[in-house]
Amino acid sequence: MRWYCAQCWAEWGEGLTRCPLCEAARGDEEGFADRLIAGLRSDTPSVVQHAADILGERREQQAVPELARVLEASADEFVLEAAARALGKIGDRSAVAPLCRVVSSGPRAAREAACVALARLHAAEVLPLLREVGTSLGACGIGAIEYLDGRRAEPPADASGQWAHRSALGGDPAALLRGGIHLPGCAVCALMAEDLNGFLAQWQYFSALAPAIRDRFCERTGFCPEHLNALGRIASQQGLDVSLSGLMTDLADRVSGLHEDPTRLTGSAAENALMGQEDRCQACGLCSQAEILYIRALATLIQDASFRESYAKGRGMCIPHCLCLRSAVEDSDLTEWVDAAQRGHLRRLVDEMQSHLRKCRQRLRRDTTRDEERAAWRALRVLSGEQGIKAGISRRPAEGPQGGGC
Ligand SMILES: [Zn+2]
Ligand SMILES: [Zn+2]
Ligand SMILES: [Zn+2]
Repeated sequence: MRWYCAQCWAEWGEGLTRCPLCEAARGDEEGFADRLIAGLRSDTPSVVQHAADILGERREQQAVPELARVLEASADEFVLEAAARALGKIGDRSAVAPLCRVVSSGPRAAREAACVALARLHAAEVLPLLREVGTSLGACGIGAIEYLDGRRAEPPADASGQWAHRSALGGDPAALLRGGIHLPGCAVCALMAEDLNGFLAQWQYFSALAPAIRDRFCERTGFCPEHLNALGRIASQQGLDVSLSGLMTDLADRVSGLHEDPTRLTGSAAENALMGQEDRCQACGLCSQAEILYIRALATLIQDASFRESYAKGRGMCIPHCLCLRSAVEDSDLTEWVDAAQRGHLRRLVDEMQSHLRKCRQRLRRDTTRDEERAAWRALRVLSGEQGIKAGISRRPAEGPQGGGC
């Protein structure tokens, strides 16, 4: 379901073969485990935390001594939590003693993670200790006690995971579309928005840690204005303080070279499109890849009668994605079916807007339905695609190497 970039450590889904942040190819993993283990010795807590998380996911046995050392040496609650979580996943019983020390005297989140790890290691011998500190434990700690004394079938789940959401382009596009077709808006836009948010969240986090990501941003014109705005919508101020200070420091060093390419960083979307450079924004590149994947999957799904039934009951697609789908479907009967379904969706919107207007004029505003109240806003999104998504991006004439049409 997910893989980690061996260069910048960002997390991606199955659909990507190259890291969109630093461009490293998937599978090029030489020395990855060693770099992660070296990361456990970093002075930056977020580096240690993330290295521990990935080592745990990858079940790297050779990392156990260094993870145990982190448990002894660190005082950072979230670093300790990540190291304990990793040791539980790797499943090496030599970690029992250091985990017990965290349970006795560690900060709260770390204590809970250590309890879960001990449950995963089936360390029934530590039950007396867990019972002793039991009153200070939360749900995970109590769950660990219940598992170890046989009152529960499975160890409790970890309380937190850093990237619990779906990674960008993660999962089977057909399954995601089946799940999203009942949404009140365009399912392709909704999935692309999830992918984009995952991408931007990782950019914000990893650009502070990996110089290669900042280099790429500076060399390749950064993000287009829409995607910079999208970053502003999902980011926290403190997150931006960290990521943008690193980026601005790099830009300050390069400022005299920026004028050599006038579209660099300041190029508007229109200018870039005219010059065939739309894909230079990394976020646009990711959206375009996602869009192609979903539209192709949709063109296959639409051949299935039961899927068509769900599609007709849903809210339809935005116009740009309907056009993408139409050109991806080869069978002319199916194209007609797509058109008819879209006509139905558009007419339903018209009815809702008209009904809203009529009720308002007759002073029956209180009788309007939720669908009627939202119809006009929905109509705008049908025309444009969801906010922050450049719908139909993969079909525009200015296609870069990642394009290829739907
Ligand atoms: Zn990378
Ligand atoms: Zn759409
Ligand atoms: Zn963009």
